[in-house]
Amino acid sequence: MNFSDLGLSDELLRAVADSGYLEPTPIQADAIPLILMGRDILGCAQTGTGKTASFTLPMIDILSSGRARARMPRTLIIAPTRELATQVGDCFDTYGKYSKLTKALIIGGESFDEQYKTLDKGVDVLIATPGRILDVLARGKVLLNDVKILVIDEADRMLDMGFIPDVEKIVSYLGKIRQTLMFSATMPEEIRALADNFLLNPKEISINPPSTAGKNIDHRLIKINHKDKKDSESLNWKKRKKLRQILSKEDISNVLIFCNRKRVVEIVNKSLLKHGFNSSCLHGDMPQNQRTETMRTFKSENINILVCSDVAARGLDIDDISHVINFDVPLHPEDYVHRIGRTGRAGKSGKAFTLYWGEDDQLLSKISSTIGKQIPLSELYNKDETNKDSDVGLEPRKKPAQPKKKKTTKSNKNQNRIVKEETPTGLGDHIPAFLIK
Ligand code: AMP
Repeated sequence: MNFSDLGLSDELLRAVADSGYLEPTPIQADAIPLILMGRDILGCAQTGTGKTASFTLPMIDILSSGRARARMPRTLIIAPTRELATQVGDCFDTYGKYSKLTKALIIGGESFDEQYKTLDKGVDVLIATPGRILDVLARGKVLLNDVKILVIDEADRMLDMGFIPDVEKIVSYLGKIRQTLMFSATMPEEIRALADNFLLNPKEISINPPSTAGKNIDHRLIKINHKDKKDSESLNWKKRKKLRQILSKEDISNVLIFCNRKRVVEIVNKSLLKHGFNSSCLHGDMPQNQRTETMRTFKSENINILVCSDVAARGLDIDDISHVINFDVPLHPEDYVHRIGRTGRAGKSGKAFTLYWGEDDQLLSKISSTIGKQIPLSELYNKDETNKDSDVGLEPRKKPAQPKKKKTTKSNKNQNRIVKEETPTGLGDHIPAFLIK
């Protein structure tokens, strides 16, 4: 099938051709004609399947007739994270470059004044995160009565983040006569119930069976030999050592390293920097300007290692992620699917490593039943594990991201000595930065 078979306008076909897309992905082939016909859609598709274009492309054509009015957007897209909302906004810019549409990005962490100014001018497309749009609504700076198309993106993540009551409140501001498109990578009962509430006779499109991880990804488990339940610092130290080994041996273009806790995200990042890797980190507690800057450097290739939490990394569209590493086994099997879905995108192959230890067995068996297969052990990295504490390949492949060397003072000499010792700290939560290895 070609894009020209889908009923899109010539301008849009030109923008799609400029993007280098040769043919529509399955979700685009299914959803675009239906959305152009005005149908409600319930799309079950993983990220990486081209789902953003499946709704932005027809929306641009639908919006090309009609005009924006001050403070009364004609479409509303709700996305769970700022990064995801920004990405949807970027898609409108890319595909809408031959149309004269206006958009506003209403996300937290940015100035209200700038956002109000944009809304005052009138926008066709409003892309928002739930919390911020509720604030703006409460202040009477936007009216949603005129919204003709509502998109709820990554609905299952909204559920995980506790945003469903917010979404329900936002939808209560909208008129009943509208087209609603809802997308979710998985379809738990709560999302079905939401769909029953918000959608009218929707056409259901399921691209991959729910919660099936992409097929062009090589999944591997790496066992960390550890026994003491109470000594999580030592476990994390062993994991960091294993992580460095992987990063040094693998041929990596870009890698995402997922940790379950923000504190661990920071520790792992500091540790990698200390060991001379080009890394950065992203989690929900970071201020927006810092998050934006991190994404900019990661995308512009100065940094090729991003340590992150699930919330911050959800839905990020970063080209060329060759590897995903689970520093921690995710607590929810769906998160495994999402994490792994960052690699192997648009037909490319990818590798996914998961570090685990004895206590993770239950979580792993849940993941296996969710993705419908056992994850095999990595021969390469488990071999080293039997050969305990082997230092093979610990030299960083990349040059240091923070190469500035301080003058060696007496205390610095001590720091170097401690770093080389490579022992677990056992200092609990309050680990001095210089001790992180
Ligand atoms: P998404 O699932 O929306 O996050 O999209 C994943 C990636 O696929 C993005 O980088 C898009 O630019 C890319 N993409 C979307 N549609 C196509 C297509 N028809 N052909 C090739 N790549 C595409």
